[in-house]
Amino acid sequence: MQRIYLDANATTPVLPEVFDAMRPFWLEAFGNPSSAHHSGQRARSAVERARASVAKLMNCAAKEIVFTSGGTESDNLALSGILQPFLDDRQPSHLVTTQIEHHAVLYAAEALEKRGIEVTYLAPTRDGIVDPATFEAALRPHTRLVSIMLANNETGAIQPIGKLARIAKAHNRSILFHTDAVQAAAKLPLDLTGEFKNVDLLSISGHKMYAPQGTGVLFVRSGVHLTPLFHGGPHERQRRAGTENVPGIVALGRAAELALNWQLEAGNSQLVPPNSSSATIAALRDRLESGLLATIPNTHINGSTTHRVPNTTNLRFDGVDAESLLIALDMQGIAASFGAACQSGATEPSHVLLAMGLSPAEARSSLRLSLSRLTTADEIDRTLQIIPAAVARLRSLA
Ligand code: PLP
Repeated sequence: MQRIYLDANATTPVLPEVFDAMRPFWLEAFGNPSSAHHSGQRARSAVERARASVAKLMNCAAKEIVFTSGGTESDNLALSGILQPFLDDRQPSHLVTTQIEHHAVLYAAEALEKRGIEVTYLAPTRDGIVDPATFEAALRPHTRLVSIMLANNETGAIQPIGKLARIAKAHNRSILFHTDAVQAAAKLPLDLTGEFKNVDLLSISGHKMYAPQGTGVLFVRSGVHLTPLFHGGPHERQRRAGTENVPGIVALGRAAELALNWQLEAGNSQLVPPNSSSATIAALRDRLESGLLATIPNTHINGSTTHRVPNTTNLRFDGVDAESLLIALDMQGIAASFGAACQSGATEPSHVLLAMGLSPAEARSSLRLSLSRLTTADEIDRTLQIIPAAVARLRSLA
């Protein structure tokens, strides 16, 4: 059976160019970048080259890039790193975030709340987007930090981060703004000098952008003081102790170069150039989505269709248990995902879909399909045969 991978928001494959770039740093150039000898210095220059490549992708300075172990660490470092000093000084402090964040932010916020930080969890509109007026109304005199994601992992909905960060700074220049851009990197331009010039901290993760799992970045704007999570060596300008994951960092640097090339090909719009093979992501997603809507009655799209990353669709099939659908699809070779987390042994409906106003039953009948740059037209055609039949079968059994 030829398997079809439609779960790129969970993780992307490592591209061959990325793998080739990292390989020597396990086998030959394996030195510790902190060592003064040749082998160490070779590793050091590779890390710094990668830092420059990531900085170029995000249009920021290399010294503003902190390498981490992934999106979860970057998010935790941003939230705790900014709020810890206020806790230490017992100053009243308020964090604004949303109900649709990834658990890396949501649970970090909840942990800070238990330690005395006031937290506002904004609800999105039915489209899964945070309304700027609602956001502005939530700001308080002692709001210290905002953390709102750029693209949602379940619906792909893009939040108006440039606008929200402008509102926060207009309210009070000292409010810091963090965005989790894990699902936006390599899909949307991340311009920290242009559209996102009011963003102070931004997280990305290697394994959502064709580099390996366990690699990530936190952008920390110059002048922003961050209390580190870990105690140890002076790595990453005292912001993240621990010997660098050199092969992973090199891979992330190479992935950033590829993403920048796609962005330039696409003319700085969503990274879907009209006349190249990579152009097909949005076109393939749209073909998949419209094909499923046309052939399966009582099917709906969850979330915005106008402000959305090019690779994601979240579909609701009335009366179908998405968990059963997922298993049926897996048996036929299709990897998809349904927005749910297994908590204490029970499958909970997606917190994102519930926050958007869907009922638990609606959330439980929703499926996420997310394409990668390796998804082919043939795979989409086969998916368009398999999913309608699987939905019809499950409905006939209900
Ligand atoms: N933030 C978002 C929006 C994500 O989708 C994910 C992963 O799914 C993360 C954070 C966590 O990233 P990582 O898996 O690299 O820890």
